Amino acid sequence: MAKRRIPRYQQEEQAIAHEKLTHAKGVGRIRADLTKQAPNNSYGPAKLFYEDLEFTCRDCQKKEIWTAEQQQWWYEVARGSIHTTAIRCRTCRQARRGQKNDSQPAVPPAETDPPPETKK
Ligand SMILES: [Zn+2]
Repeated sequence: MAKRRIPRYQQEEQAIAHEKLTHAKGVGRIRADLTKQAPNNSYGPAKLFYEDLEFTCRDCQKKEIWTAEQQQWWYEVARGSIHTTAIRCRTCRQARRGQKNDSQPAVPPAETDPPPETKK
């Protein structure tokens, strides 16, 4: 995006200034609560805010938005590692979840396992 090379600390200052600006307007960005994030024991920077993020699904190549709200839930409620990011679209995630039958804490058991009907 920016063609000029600017020092990293200036980029961060600009990002924070931009964050204040957009956050005041309530535009697709949520300030992160660092105390709720999973422990970050590496050099990587913490996430200061969440912003709608476009990504390409690894499985079907569809473009989808990982919203700020979904990120907040993932990092602060589900306590996902901040090094993880969205890689699959909702459809593919659900398909995989169905195949593997994972236990997802936030998702109640689906009604996919009705008692076998006995024939009379
Ligand atoms: Zn997909």
